[in-house]
Amino acid sequence: MQKGSFNNAYSSAFSVDVEDGLSLAMRDYFLKPMQQTKRVEGNTLELIELLDKKSIKATFFTLGMVAEDYPNLIKEIVKHGHELAVHGFNHYRFFRMTPEQALEELSKAKDILEQISGVQVYGHRAPAFSISKNTPWAFDVIKEAGFTYDSSIMPISSEYHGWNNFPKEIVNLETSNGPLIEFPISLLNIFGRDLPVSGGSYLRLLPYWFLKRAFSKINKNQHNMVYVHPYELDREDYPDYYFEELNKKDFKTRLKLKTNFINRKKSINKIAKLLENFDYKTVIEIIEDQKDMKKISLKDLN
Ligand SMILES: [Zn+2]
Repeated sequence: MQKGSFNNAYSSAFSVDVEDGLSLAMRDYFLKPMQQTKRVEGNTLELIELLDKKSIKATFFTLGMVAEDYPNLIKEIVKHGHELAVHGFNHYRFFRMTPEQALEELSKAKDILEQISGVQVYGHRAPAFSISKNTPWAFDVIKEAGFTYDSSIMPISSEYHGWNNFPKEIVNLETSNGPLIEFPISLLNIFGRDLPVSGGSYLRLLPYWFLKRAFSKINKNQHNMVYVHPYELDREDYPDYYFEELNKKDFKTRLKLKTNFINRKKSINKIAKLLENFDYKTVIEIIEDQKDMKKISLKDLN
């Protein structure tokens, strides 16, 4: 079968942000901290099985706390040939941390992932893509913690995540601690607006035929950063305690959180088709193949 990006210089990266959606929602939206649930392990293993079937290697941005509770999952990711990367330790967003706290989060997460896996970790992704113009120090911290690349920037306008004039392609960023490569989240320009269609709610809500065209269009000019969360393919209903808390919230929060459940049961089939029809590499492989990366400094962006 001819792939969507066949004969194209640009490939895609399939990335997974490994976190337990249920316990993070309980902690961050309802202020009811709880143990991570086994769902994160089960859903991530399902993704690993699917990737194996399609012979695709992916990049797993993983929380340190997931590694702490599920060390065997880390070993499975690496055993199946995937790239292991960091998604913070506790999933704390950058705008809620000081640079010192962020450095501790990242260093602790990198250490535990490397200790359990026995491999070197090169990449980082901020929880909820939370690096913006308000937290430019994040890049210095990421470099200081020993990462080669970051993949956290959404080059769009948004309140907490998003950096609207950030380059849309992979760039070599000059930090005060040396160079750091940034692979931003891919956008599709549609009706004059840039939309991050390659992951999250867009990927879950948009139909396959649309995504196939969108991915082909993105691949004409750049590598496509695809991202999913294990909980987006969770087919088991959330427990009653979650909905009891949800029902106490205001209408806007209820609506926002309820859209997180739309199409979950169909996600795995759509992801399977997107895996079949495009070429994928790990993030570090794409970065190693980059020849002429634009060099930028933070001053250029302000
Ligand atoms: Zn996350």
